[in-house]
Amino acid sequence: MLKFKRQFIAAKFIEPSGRMVEKSIEIRTHPITGRTCRIAFSRIHEKEAATDSLPPPPPDAGQSSTCPFCQPQVTSKTPRLHPDLVPDGRMVQGDSLLFPNLFPYGSYSAVNLFNDEHFVEIGRASVSSYADGFINCGRYLKSVLNCDPLAVFMAITQNHLPSAGGSLVHPHLQINADRVPGNHHRFLMNKAAEFKQQHGEHLFSSYLNHEKAEGSRYIGTTGSWEWLAAFAPEGFYEIWGVLPEITSIQSVTAGDWRDLAQGVINIQRFYRSICRNGYNLGLLSVETPDGSLELRVVLVVRSNYAPWVRSDYTGYEVMLGDMATFVAPEQTAEWSRSFFGS
Ligand SMILES: [Zn+2]
Repeated sequence: MLKFKRQFIAAKFIEPSGRMVEKSIEIRTHPITGRTCRIAFSRIHEKEAATDSLPPPPPDAGQSSTCPFCQPQVTSKTPRLHPDLVPDGRMVQGDSLLFPNLFPYGSYSAVNLFNDEHFVEIGRASVSSYADGFINCGRYLKSVLNCDPLAVFMAITQNHLPSAGGSLVHPHLQINADRVPGNHHRFLMNKAAEFKQQHGEHLFSSYLNHEKAEGSRYIGTTGSWEWLAAFAPEGFYEIWGVLPEITSIQSVTAGDWRDLAQGVINIQRFYRSICRNGYNLGLLSVETPDGSLELRVVLVVRSNYAPWVRSDYTGYEVMLGDMATFVAPEQTAEWSRSFFGS
């Protein structure tokens, strides 16, 4: 039902040494989006700056006194939620704290802090801090839906370190809900509905079943979540977590959020093992009663946050729209499996 298309091409030329060579490139078509990406295998041997070891902490890693997310100034420097949404102004779950984004991207735009730790290296956070953070986000999104039932397009995202878009190093999640969908909401919502109508199955479950049977990109499970390397990645070391058959954040239990947190920390540990300190995370949902888009979290490595590092978005990605990565997804799966105890 889904096509996992692979094409192989080659570039022939004479190397500086005088040797005639043929270098292979693989083009994969994304089974869901139909977008192509390239795996330029020869570039894996290229030495990226600042990936020999994990980069040192960023310059502002010790500057908690000027950080608006640190105690005690967090209560005076950050805004409070509208009383229609949450009477207490901020939401607390364990050590996590949720409040509105002072610089909103949408109608319901919030920030969740895991705790008062100003800088946490990738892979070093506790699972419970992420679990509490996700539970807090889920509760906030439920309140949004109670208050505005049409704000159905929801997202939880993370920019870990400024190279991934984070404006403050203090670890946090962004939460967004709106009546207006993002491009990916719009595309995935329609695709999942069309797929369900045509095949009587959920889109991501069908994708997952193919990948579990095929095996080479399947990584493992954390409780209810299933993890796999993306077949046609749109970012470096792209990994998905799928919560099969669950189409609403409102159906996610505290146990599911804990299982998600465990998977995210496992992937952070994998990224740390390959000396990468920046990544993005995203979980989208469409909260319509008849929605058929299952929950899926995506994680991708971004350029390291360190001096003199080049961007991972080149003219190729920006102008041609084809992600060019250097590592086969099967390799990503193989390297990450040990972090899932499998
Ligand atoms: Zn801080």
